[in-house]
Amino acid sequence: MGMKKFAEEILAMVAARNPAEPEFLQAVHEVLESIEPVIEKRPEIAKLKIVERIVEPERQVMFRVPWVNDAGEVQVNRGFRVQFNSALGPYKGGLRFHPSVNLGIIKFLGFEQVFKNALTGTPIGGGKGGSDFDPKGKSDMEVMRFCQSFMNELFRHIGPDTDVPAGDIGVGAREIGFLFGQYKKLTNTFNGVLTGKGIGYGGSLVRKEATGYGLVYFTTRMLEARKTDWKNKTVVISGSGNVAIYAVEKAQSLGAKVVALSDSNGYIYDPDGIKLDTVKRIKEVERGRIKEYIADHPKAEYHEGCKGIWTIPCDVALPCATQNELDGKDAEILVRNKCIAVAEGANMPSTPEAVKVFLDAGVSFGPAKAANAGGVATSALEMSQNSMRMSWPFEEVDMRLRQIMDGIYKQCDQAAEAYGAKGNLVIGANIAGFLRVADAMLAQGLV
Ligand code: NDP
Repeated sequence: MGMKKFAEEILAMVAARNPAEPEFLQAVHEVLESIEPVIEKRPEIAKLKIVERIVEPERQVMFRVPWVNDAGEVQVNRGFRVQFNSALGPYKGGLRFHPSVNLGIIKFLGFEQVFKNALTGTPIGGGKGGSDFDPKGKSDMEVMRFCQSFMNELFRHIGPDTDVPAGDIGVGAREIGFLFGQYKKLTNTFNGVLTGKGIGYGGSLVRKEATGYGLVYFTTRMLEARKTDWKNKTVVISGSGNVAIYAVEKAQSLGAKVVALSDSNGYIYDPDGIKLDTVKRIKEVERGRIKEYIADHPKAEYHEGCKGIWTIPCDVALPCATQNELDGKDAEILVRNKCIAVAEGANMPSTPEAVKVFLDAGVSFGPAKAANAGGVATSALEMSQNSMRMSWPFEEVDMRLRQIMDGIYKQCDQAAEAYGAKGNLVIGANIAGFLRVADAMLAQGLV
């Protein structure tokens, strides 16, 4: 029925309208491919142009962020907030501070966020933001001045019932604290406008751990489907930031042996298993580089270049650094080394070629939208607690996180089977997420 043509036409339109945004096109392409059978079954989706509407952000804001560095020099960065879709709730999604940030990167992340948030079953829409500011090597005071200037513009676009940002690469507890302080000063309100706040002023227990823990909970279901578990599995995890650290913590607690971590300069290999206390000290306290691990553990190796991490033989690989960090060649090496499961902690870390290699080889593959949704799900729990002016104990939030991850796995698995792609969690996640958003948009009319 020419469904291929339908997807191709929309993709061509998106490409023409959004030049020089390859990551955004990559994300749209994957979703369009997956939902072809849905379009066939549900003619009202094409008729009411749901797909054409869903690829167009509801609103995008770009702004100047001027600030002064410690040397007294004026610096100018660019700020972004893309409010992608509010069919299911207030826009929700992180802020990324990294020199590679541009509009296309924020749009790819915002687009993915829409479907991810839908999968969590919590009432949140999708958005994303950030800046090309590089927090690396900046003093606390420089970071504070930058965050204050960033919020001087952002505050007028966000709110606890409008748009609720959180952290992402380069934005952790310190940055959220400075952003929250400035929002409070500008609006004279203390509310749940940001998530990932400190526990002492409205943050939720488990939010810090949530993406990494959730990733491991999701992967547990993938392993179960293969009739196995984490015990004695050799695991490679890329990155060494928030997501990676708490993925290590949970995987180790379930009996896995995590042997490698990385940052953008290189990777460490510790055949005895990564000592997480050392990593937490270096990364969370000293804001240092992963190679410093070797000073404490001389039996471990450090290798320059982060790509080499995928050559380490492992049973399970969890890419937790950044987009397109694992390509087709890396995937082939992992398959040759008998890797049985890959789950994405980062957003879109596997290139389309890599995903194809994994699926063709029968490797269990957990796509980011589903596998890393634990962070935003727990942010939604933080919003609930803020609205109630209550805070739940660690065990309660952790239990809810686990239930949400189990629910996401089930939805993806069932949607894949219902649409003739049993076991393909990429198709399952895209269809299940898309349907939830599409149905809400259909119900709400042309807005
Ligand atoms: P952090 O800033 O805490 O850590 C990022 C890690 O990835 C660092 O080790 C960093 O190394 C590495 N990294 C970043 N960019 C690159 C690059 N271009 N090449 C190689 N390594 C790189 O971020 P998070 O842990 O929060 O985020 C990691 C990933 O997880 C991102 O894709 C993010 O979108 C995704 N994610 C995060 C969630 C969260 O709750 N925080 C939720 C869902 C997804 P270096 O220090 O050298 O830059």
